Amino acid sequence: MLQISQSLIKEVLKHDHCPKQVYFSFVEGKDLIEPSEAMLTGRYFESELLGACRGGKKQEAKMINKGKEKAQAYKDCDELVLFAKGVLDNLGIRISENFIQVELISDFLKGNIDLISNDIISKDDIAIYDIKWTGTKEDDRWNGWGDPANNQDAEIQAVHYTMLYHKKYGVYPPFYFLIFGKDRWVKILRFRFSEDAIELHKERIKYTADKISQYADEKWKGNGSFNKCISCPFYNMCDDRATVPQIEEVII
Ligand code: SF4
Repeated sequence: MLQISQSLIKEVLKHDHCPKQVYFSFVEGKDLIEPSEAMLTGRYFESELLGACRGGKKQEAKMINKGKEKAQAYKDCDELVLFAKGVLDNLGIRISENFIQVELISDFLKGNIDLISNDIISKDDIAIYDIKWTGTKEDDRWNGWGDPANNQDAEIQAVHYTMLYHKKYGVYPPFYFLIFGKDRWVKILRFRFSEDAIELHKERIKYTADKISQYADEKWKGNGSFNKCISCPFYNMCDDRATVPQIEEVII
C-alpha cells in the first residue's frame, strides 16, 4: 500500500496534479523535479550540519577548477554550517547519528524527520526538528519565511510529522523549523496546533487516501494538458502524454 507522506498530500492538493505523475513519482520513486542549484545547496547544508541529508545520503559540494576547488556557493555554505553548529550548540540541541534523517512509518502514514533531539525548552523532553537552508531574506513574505502562519507547505509538514509521531509513540512532541538564511540569519519557529488544525489535517489525509485509491482503480490514467506534459519529466515514458494542445472554445 502506498504510504501517505506530507509531500504526497501537497501534490494531490494541487488543482492540476496528474495521477500518472503521482504514480511515477510516489509509487516508482522517480524524481518529479530536477533539483535546482538552491535545492542542492540546501541538501549540502543539511548534509554537512547533520551528517546526512534526505534519504540518509551525503550531498557533495559542487567542484570547479577540474575538481580542485569548491564552488563559491559551497564555500559560503561551509561558513554558514559553522555558524549553524554554533547556534545548535548554544541552544543545547544534541545531534546523534541514530536520530538524524529518521524514517517514521505508522500504518499508512510516513515521514522523514531531519532530526529528533532534546527539546530546546524542556531539555528532558523529545522534540522534532526540520532544518531549512534558504537563499531568501528573513522578512520575505512571498518566497521565504516572513509569514509562517500563512505558509501552507510548512503547516502541512509540521502537522503531518507531529501527528505521525503521536500515532507511533502516543505523544505530541514539540515541532520546530530551524531556518538558516544564506546571509547569516536564523529563525526558530515552533509550530503549535489547535484541535481544529489536527482535524483539518485528518481530512487532508482522508482526501489523499481516497484520491490515491481512485487513481489506482483507474490504473493511474494521466490527465496532463499539453502545456503540462511538455515540461513533465516523465514525458518520454508516459503513454498518456498529450501531444496536441486543446482547443478552447470562446462563445460570445
Ligand atoms: S506526460 Fe502528461 S499525462 Fe504523462 S505523467 Fe506527465 S503530465 Fe501526466
